[in-house]
Amino acid sequence: MRLSQMHLRTLREVPNEAEIPSHILLLRSGMIRKQVSGVYGFMNMGWRSVRKIEQIVREEMDASGAQEICMSAIQPAELWEESGRWNAYGPELWRIKDRNGRDFCLGPTHEEVFTDLIRNDISSYRQMPLMLYQIQTKYRDEARPRFGLIRSREFIMKDCYSFDTDAEGLDRSYGLMYDAYTRIFQRCGLDCRPVEADTGAIGGSNSHEFTALSGIGESEIAYCDKCGMAATTERAACVDAPAQTDVDALPLEKKLTPGTKTIEDVAGYLNLDEAQTIKALLFVTYDEEGKENGYVAAFVRGDRELNMTKLVNALGIAEHQIEFADEEKMGAATGCVGGFTGPIGLHDCTVVVDSELPGLKNLCAGACEEDHHYINVNYGRDYTGDIVTDLKTLKEGDPCPVCGAPVRHTRGIEVGQIFKLGTKYSESMNARYVDENQKEKPVVMGCYGIGVTRTLAAIVEQHHDEDGIIWPVSVAPYHVIVTLVKPADETQTAVAEQIYAELQQAGVETLLDDRRERPGVKFKDADLMGIPVRITVGKLAGEGKVEYKLRREKDRRELTVQDAIAEAV
Ligand code: ATP
Ligand code: MG
Ligand code: MG
Ligand code: MG
Repeated sequence: MRLSQMHLRTLREVPNEAEIPSHILLLRSGMIRKQVSGVYGFMNMGWRSVRKIEQIVREEMDASGAQEICMSAIQPAELWEESGRWNAYGPELWRIKDRNGRDFCLGPTHEEVFTDLIRNDISSYRQMPLMLYQIQTKYRDEARPRFGLIRSREFIMKDCYSFDTDAEGLDRSYGLMYDAYTRIFQRCGLDCRPVEADTGAIGGSNSHEFTALSGIGESEIAYCDKCGMAATTERAACVDAPAQTDVDALPLEKKLTPGTKTIEDVAGYLNLDEAQTIKALLFVTYDEEGKENGYVAAFVRGDRELNMTKLVNALGIAEHQIEFADEEKMGAATGCVGGFTGPIGLHDCTVVVDSELPGLKNLCAGACEEDHHYINVNYGRDYTGDIVTDLKTLKEGDPCPVCGAPVRHTRGIEVGQIFKLGTKYSESMNARYVDENQKEKPVVMGCYGIGVTRTLAAIVEQHHDEDGIIWPVSVAPYHVIVTLVKPADETQTAVAEQIYAELQQAGVETLLDDRRERPGVKFKDADLMGIPVRITVGKLAGEGKVEYKLRREKDRRELTVQDAIAEAV
């Protein structure tokens, strides 16, 4: 592409509304244009980078076995009423009416649409696993659109939905997506951390956010360099839930002798708000002589990580050495069980129970010594408790709940999120299949999103300097810019044209800056646009030499024309 013919307008000034580097630089380099608040158009170079990100996403999705389709952004309200989200979603849902007054929305996400699609198509277990995805425009009437592409009201998302017969199938699909996301963000040049996340409005039981580390990010994450623990601070999770094991196979070592606490006691301890719900059980353990030697936490619904961490902090025992039992020893029952060894300075037995759980029977509890597990522990018989809730989160410098090293805090941009939805949508929207034994069951679902346009901005946040963007080659709009210093000079022009032609022929995406502008303007624009390689054709052209410079490096080298071409290919 010749810059003399390109639709391009770069800006010297920082646009008023732009506060962060990606927003400023994408506007200044002319890659995006604002239409109204939170709504942007993409100019040629911006759009090329968007398409490169999309292509990386597409290749990795396809490689993981997902199939691309494309559904409409326009969604009928009826589907959202079925799932219960027409009212629940709030003003972020961009609602519209057709000429007959029928309600629709512009899709902020597509769980309903994809569930509706497959409930009509899937009837047998033989049709699963199935993963469908699309790369498509989403609409969210954000309360505070800001930071350009990072929080816009119209944006491009890749959303994928998995359909399995059971929880194991979902685990497999989720794993495939987790790995695909890791590769996608790596290929995009992002320093990205998968962190355990809250499930938010979508609901479900298990989730990871993929967070591009950045000071301007709105996600706060806690992580540990020593053991790899990483979670959003709302979540502050630490270890994967162990596989379910057979409770009755665990020997009963001792009688469980928990004391009990009232709701007030527990709430006082934990500084909690009664209105919320907790999913953990906690009791003291005793040694042979009947002396307390630690305590045990049992967690239900796969929420061990969350509550373990929060309990540890809420109970103020963080300064003590805490060891997590290794997962096999911990075992699992209705939920998961974890324990820490003592002494930990906790003298009262605390029992905290999720009231929503029917029965709470046959739980398993244990300390972190082999065979120190109690089985068939029943709520009500062996202990009592009451509803308490949300526990505090980790703070910077607190011991990591997994390994004890100081926990670090940082900020990041949520570029993707994956969820295990389970049967939330298939139950409410009646998406069922028939299994091997002719039994009807709900489809087990997962959903997986990547903000494509937000990813573009995140890349710029991580790759820029005071002069402009520094694109990673994989997503650069063009690979090379040939800067022709003096278009009036015939020799320079001939050399520049030759390099331009040969690079194009070799499949290198090349810009030729043949504009009748001062050299300073051209260099400034090249830096601003962030093209990875600049080949400058100037005074040395007569000797068959050019200047070769990488955008990310300060150094420039004199090379012969042929060497420069060879280097760039
Ligand atoms: P956030 O917490 O930033 O509001 P979200 O959790 O609401 O994001 P999801 O519902 O998980 O977003 O959507 C999947 C992905 O879509 C996000 O991980 C993000 O990359 C992208 N995304 C969400 N909202 C926006 C937005 N307003 N503008 C651009 N991208 C967005
Ligand atoms: Mg949001
Ligand atoms: Mg979020
Ligand atoms: Mg999210």
